Amino acid sequence: MPAADALAPRLLAWFDTHGRHHLPWQRDPTPYGVWVSEIMLQQTQVATVIPYYERFMARFPDIASLAAAELDTVLAHWSGLGYYARARNLHRAARLVHEHHGGHFPEDIRQVQALPGIGRSTAGAILSLALGQHHPILDGNCKRVLARHFAVAGWPGQSAVLKRLWSHAESHTPAIRCADFNQAMMDLGATLCTRSRPNCTACPLVDTCQAHRAGRETEYPGRKPAKPLPERHTVMLLLQDEAGRILLQRRPPAGLWGGLLSLPELPADGDIVHTARETWGIQLETVARWQPLQHTFSHYRLNITPVHARLLACHTLHDDAWLWHPPEDTAPGGLPTPVTLLLQRLCREA
Ligand code: SF4
Repeated sequence: MPAADALAPRLLAWFDTHGRHHLPWQRDPTPYGVWVSEIMLQQTQVATVIPYYERFMARFPDIASLAAAELDTVLAHWSGLGYYARARNLHRAARLVHEHHGGHFPEDIRQVQALPGIGRSTAGAILSLALGQHHPILDGNCKRVLARHFAVAGWPGQSAVLKRLWSHAESHTPAIRCADFNQAMMDLGATLCTRSRPNCTACPLVDTCQAHRAGRETEYPGRKPAKPLPERHTVMLLLQDEAGRILLQRRPPAGLWGGLLSLPELPADGDIVHTARETWGIQLETVARWQPLQHTFSHYRLNITPVHARLLACHTLHDDAWLWHPPEDTAPGGLPTPVTLLLQRLCREA
C-alpha cells in the first residue's frame, strides 16, 4: 500500500491530539469493562452511556457479580437505555463465561464471538482495546468513515458491501497501536465524519477521501434499498346510460378514498358482464378495454384497467351510494385523481 494512502499514521497523529482518552472504560481497560461499554454503545451515544456505565460497574464490578445477579436486577440497571435484549445477552454471556471459562473473559476471538450478543466487530473491539490484540473493527462509525474514504457504494446490510468494508478495515488496521487506531476510527466517525454534516476540513483523511473529492460525502454509506411496492389490480367500470351519464359509486367512509364518489370496481380476473349482473343486478355490454393506468399510493401500486361499457338494463341501484353523473360536470365532493383522468378521456373521445 503506498504510504500516502495509509490511514494509520494520519489517524494516530490526529488521535493523539483530538481523540477521546478519558472515557471511563479507558481507565485501566479490562475485557469486562470494555465489553460492557461496547454493548451499551451499540445503540446509544457516549454521553448517555457514561452515567449508566458508572452505575452498572459499581453494582456489577466483575463477571462473577454479573453472573450471580438476577436478570431483573441487571435489567433494572439497564432501565432507560433501551434495547433490553442487549442486557439479557450480557447477563447470559456472563453466566456462560462463568461456567465455561472459569470466570475469565476468553482471549481467543472465536470464543469471544461465540458469546451471545457479540459479533465480529465487538469481539475485535474488546480484544484490541483491552488486550492490545490485532483485530480490525467495523462498527457504524467505522463503516461510515471507510465507505466515504474508499467510496464504497451500496448499503452495508448487503453482504458484498460489508465484505468490501471489512477488507478495507483489515488492510488498514495496524498491528502496532491497534487499540489506538480502532479508537481513533470510532472517534473520527463520532466527532468529524458525522452522518449528515461531516467536518471534512478538520479531518486528517481529507487529502485521500474519495467521497470528499467528489463532493458526495453524505451519499455514503448507501441507504437500505426501499422494498418494491406491492401491486394490486382492479377494473374500473366507465358505465354509460343512454343519456351519456356515467355511473359513480360512493366508497365506504373509512379506507382508501374514503367517502368519495368513484367508478365502480370489479375484480381484474373475472368476467365483467357476469360479475356486474351478479353483484349489482346491472346488465351491460362492454364497448372497449382501455390501456391500463397506474396509481401509486404510499404502501402499494394500483394497476387500473378501465373498461368502457354501455348499460342495457338496471333495476336495483336505488340507494344513496349510486349516482348517474354527466361526465363533463364536477362531481360533488371531488373524485379520486385516476377517476378524474378517466372521465376527462371519456369526454375527449365522446
Ligand atoms: S474527509 Fe470528510 S467524508 Fe472523508 S473521512 Fe474525513 S470527514 Fe469523512
